[in-house]
Amino acid sequence: MGKILAYIQCANGDPTRNALEAFRAAQLLAADLEYQLSGTVFGAHLPDSVKALKMDQLIHVQSPSLMSYTPELFVAAMDAVMKTESPDIMIAGHTYQVRDWLPRLAGQRNCPMVSDCIGYHIDPELIWVRQVFQGKINADVVTSAEQVIVSFQSGAYRADQLENGNPSIRAMEVDLSQVTLHVRPGEKFQDTKDSIDLSHAERIISVGRGISEEAKLSIIHELAAVLDAELASSRPVVDYGWLEHDRQVGSSGQTVSPKLYLAVGLSGAIQHQVGMKNSGCIVAINKDAHAPIFEIADYGVVADLFEIIPQLTTALAERQKA
Ligand SMILES: Cc1cc2nc3c(=O)[nH]c(=O)nc-3n(C[C@H](O)[C@H](O)[C@H](O)COP(=O)(O)OP(=O)(O)OC[C@H]3O[C@@H](n4cnc5c(N)ncnc54)[C@H](O)[C@@H]3O)c2cc1C
Repeated sequence: MGKILAYIQCANGDPTRNALEAFRAAQLLAADLEYQLSGTVFGAHLPDSVKALKMDQLIHVQSPSLMSYTPELFVAAMDAVMKTESPDIMIAGHTYQVRDWLPRLAGQRNCPMVSDCIGYHIDPELIWVRQVFQGKINADVVTSAEQVIVSFQSGAYRADQLENGNPSIRAMEVDLSQVTLHVRPGEKFQDTKDSIDLSHAERIISVGRGISEEAKLSIIHELAAVLDAELASSRPVVDYGWLEHDRQVGSSGQTVSPKLYLAVGLSGAIQHQVGMKNSGCIVAINKDAHAPIFEIADYGVVADLFEIIPQLTTALAERQKA
């Protein structure tokens, strides 16, 4: 029987959303291929939410030196797990951390890595799908190697569709004492006081150049307050200095997959779409009926945002009062 091994990245005692989304891909793939599925968690704590996931086996590598991130120790630990398990496919979410150490692991194990995938299909061979040219084209990737390492893009699969189960739990000791450290990570950048992590937002209102000037952002702030939504933007809004860079969505900003993405006065350029097209429900408000955002929107409103946004805010506020 074939084997899939999924790395489940945890932060502050819980699995990250991207790790859970990638684990959903692993569950689906294991079912499609009828492969055995194992999950791996590093560090002292094994979250209950991970213990409840459907898989055959959960491997807990408890070494205290894996409590915080160090690429060479993570590579050595996963290499040891893979030597024991011999998986055909190793899967992880494509986080900043994973994109740092997984290619090293692939290099060390001399196996291919297919990074930042958005899906797979079986026809009849296993084909990985990843975006190229800023999301303009989906490329099919097939590997002929016996083992492959794959990472999945944030939002490619839905964590709310994870299946629960009762896996057997195995504690694994890994000797990391001989690992020579060349890289020592500094402070985690997401821990800085002002950084905004939009990847966890359930509702996002994203504003584009159509807002025309900074002062007019107040109508978007008012709607965001009523909707309890995070504010995001296209690149020009950040370039003009109207919003901080942390709020930019797209190829040079954040990748998000909220339940609701309300795109207001933005055209939906490919560099923007690449960061938000996996959102659950996309609603676009644009006065140009031919704006590309309408091609991926679930609901489209062709209107002047300055007319519709205040009306929407009032209507939602009244509904909340009722
Ligand atoms: C290497 C590279 C990386 C990039 N990275 C990013 C990125 O990460 N994120 C990103 O967003 N972009 C990125 N861009 C820029 C991208 O190509 C687009 O230029 C940008 O997304 C356009 O932003 P916009 O939609 O706000 O503006 P525009 O394309 O100018 O669109 C404004 C829209 O507002 C509408 N509008 C105007 N007035 C109103 C009104 N009153 N009511 C309703 N609608 C109105 C217009 O019809 C129009 O569709 C990148 C570009 C490059 C080359």
